[in-house]
Amino acid sequence: MRARELAWSVALATSLTVPAALAAPAAAHPPAPGAAPGACDPFRTTPVYRGKVPSPKQVLGIELGERAVTAAESDRYLETVAAKSERVVSGTLATSAQGRPLKYAIIGKPRLLTKAGLAKVRAEAALLRDPRTPDGIAKALTRTGVPILWVAGNIHGNEPSGTDAALRVLRDLGDRTDCAASNVLNNALVVLLPTQNPDGREAGIRQNAYGFDMNRDWFARTQPETDGKISMLNQYPPALFIDAHEMGGDSYFFPPNADPIYHETPEEAVGWINDVYSPSVAAEFGRQGVDFFNRDVYDLFYQGYGDSVPTTGFNAAGMTYEKGGGSPYPDKVREQYIAQWASLSAGAANRHKILTEWRKMTVDAYKQGKAGHLEPNQIYNPPNAIDRPVPDHKVRHYFLRADDKAKADEAQTIVRRLQRMGVTVHRLVRPLTVKDFKPYGRPVARTTLPKGTYWIPMAQGQKHWIQAMLNEDSYTPFPYFYDVTAWSLPLLGNVPGGSSGADLRPAAVPLPTQPAVRVPRPGKKPKIGVLALSATSSSARESVGWLRHRLDREWRLPYTLLNPADVAAGKLAGAEVLLVPNGPAGTAYDQLGDAGRTALRQWTQGGGRYIGWQGGTELAARLGLTTTSLSEPTSDVPGTLFRVTVDASSPLARNVGPTVWQFYSYDLIMKQPDPAKVAVAYPAVTSPDWFVSGFERGAAELGGTAAVVDEPVGEGRAVLFGGEPNFRAFTDGTAELLVNAILGPDPSARVSGLAKAAPSQEAARRAAALPRAESPIRVSVKAADAARTEALLRSVGATWTERRSGDAVRYVIDNPQGLPVDHHPFAGRLASLIRRSGITPIAVTLP
Ligand SMILES: [Zn+2]
Repeated sequence: MRARELAWSVALATSLTVPAALAAPAAAHPPAPGAAPGACDPFRTTPVYRGKVPSPKQVLGIELGERAVTAAESDRYLETVAAKSERVVSGTLATSAQGRPLKYAIIGKPRLLTKAGLAKVRAEAALLRDPRTPDGIAKALTRTGVPILWVAGNIHGNEPSGTDAALRVLRDLGDRTDCAASNVLNNALVVLLPTQNPDGREAGIRQNAYGFDMNRDWFARTQPETDGKISMLNQYPPALFIDAHEMGGDSYFFPPNADPIYHETPEEAVGWINDVYSPSVAAEFGRQGVDFFNRDVYDLFYQGYGDSVPTTGFNAAGMTYEKGGGSPYPDKVREQYIAQWASLSAGAANRHKILTEWRKMTVDAYKQGKAGHLEPNQIYNPPNAIDRPVPDHKVRHYFLRADDKAKADEAQTIVRRLQRMGVTVHRLVRPLTVKDFKPYGRPVARTTLPKGTYWIPMAQGQKHWIQAMLNEDSYTPFPYFYDVTAWSLPLLGNVPGGSSGADLRPAAVPLPTQPAVRVPRPGKKPKIGVLALSATSSSARESVGWLRHRLDREWRLPYTLLNPADVAAGKLAGAEVLLVPNGPAGTAYDQLGDAGRTALRQWTQGGGRYIGWQGGTELAARLGLTTTSLSEPTSDVPGTLFRVTVDASSPLARNVGPTVWQFYSYDLIMKQPDPAKVAVAYPAVTSPDWFVSGFERGAAELGGTAAVVDEPVGEGRAVLFGGEPNFRAFTDGTAELLVNAILGPDPSARVSGLAKAAPSQEAARRAAALPRAESPIRVSVKAADAARTEALLRSVGATWTERRSGDAVRYVIDNPQGLPVDHHPFAGRLASLIRRSGITPIAVTLP
């Protein structure tokens, strides 16, 4: 508490000394674009350049938009502008895996850009975000302060145009003297981060060099690029965050978003998005004849995106802008520039409204948290209807238990993540009895929490973010799935805890920000091979990348990366453990050839430890390395957490405990008749252990099936996971199972009584017949809607496999190139096409 209070009072003192100088509102605030005739128009005003800042042509030899600048060219131009313009300062907020800087520019009135000026901006923003700041002071700050408006580009490396547009904005704000530029400069502090993914930009790939889609990494911050950016966002908290992307086609998307929108998304922020920024971009696009759409494709649900995290975590207008990649490059950059310039102009024009409402959101969040009120689900695009309401019960507190030493690292990671997003975490100094304690996934039970338990009260300015991170369920409002539906940190980390709606006065002390967990160097380092099933498939690149991140940066275990041709060439020899992550098993099976397949079988039977998951498990089955049978699910489970039970006698159980939360998304269902070979299982649906966090329809079919099997294969062993144990490198609970599979002993005692089963020809035959599509699109409807759905799918040129179960028909739609939804010709539009056809979907799940 001391450090925080000190910072607060220093900030307060700083702010109290300045209002005299700032009492008069800065410059005249022009009305919103189009609001008043004669006002300075952001686009009709003739730009006047001072010439102090050299043009892109002078520095780079090209105009911005001629072609995509390289990451190095972007840096060079940014640094040149910062050196020449007194309105711009620059810095580096992170370094990528391959050593490239992530450079930012802060732009504003020169007196705000001095060391003291920037400190004052940070202190004032912190005061406005603190619900304890007295109203009078907050009001003065909203009169005199400036909102911080962020523009970032190129999080997906193969979507370059947002970068070039941001550099054009940089030049304009750094050099122009006309009223349109002055209005932005006088009424905002602008932060530009032209490229968020320089490695991906250079390689022309969506992900970073570790295979991470960094537009999914925002709450976990596993990647240095994300972590550095969010640290900077906490220093310069945004009221606007534009995340500039590209998509398929040649249109342009900006919000309003599609449903679902997460229930804790603050309403005023949605109001800015829909009623301040969107109309200003729409008006200018309309004038210039730019084709666009909104309320479609892009939702605001998963709390790890570059729009949802700024919105829920900072009360900003977090917005995804998407330009169709099919347009010529100059048009792409021009349209991105229009959208960025229109938004910055609108933000500046609404300076006072934005600061006032930004403050109000913090105070309201605190009041909601104090009252234990969770925001209800809403539909933003009728006639969509709410699929699932947020339960009407109070949540005033969350608790994370700290009495299990084996979970200390995972608990610390969660606490640190919360703290570094402005959440205050306390620790109980005396035991606390909670009458209505609601453990995650268990019924309410009076519980005495021991001394040392972490306590996170909801009565904080960050209440929305606390709920987003510590929820028991995401309560999906509408069954359209652009991404996953479960991400609660305690579940991901397998840290026990729960909530209470009671009025409690715990004896507790606030904790200083916890350090990052450092995993001790392993004593034993087996010779590890990692088999990548494909070099080109997205699922393989990601799953292998997430594993490489763990091995290189956390577990510090050396390994050799292999492909199917390497195995065929005998390079598996000498390995003790082979890790086979997700990927297309059929392609890999073919590429292995007879030589590779024989090598894998002989290596495993000769004493190797084959550890596979998803595609890697399917490959093991096709090779006859397991007696487990695999089948396609008929349920709809689009990225959801299940509590699974762990066999205490298994070496995989070390530091895990009796249960863990398994991330599951349309994975193959594993049936293993011999219970001794099942290390981790889905409980029966009638068991009190059965609990699902996130969306599911028909998941009962998983009840009683295997989540992880561990069986002898000749002298060797196969450890096979049905789902991803290391999803986005943030499923810390099941990652522990994986560590144990790699480093732990053989369960020889447990299975010594078993006949060492011969490879199962039956299991192999069944696996070979599995119709596994790479990254398919899934649409499920009621049987009564089948004919209309098929007509709709035919109209967009889809081909599919159909599965019926009960009253549901499920269409697994081919996506032969494995395109992500934003680059797929029709996937993103399916939800709205279905809506317009009058079909009520059970689930629409995108690749
Ligand atoms: Zn993108």
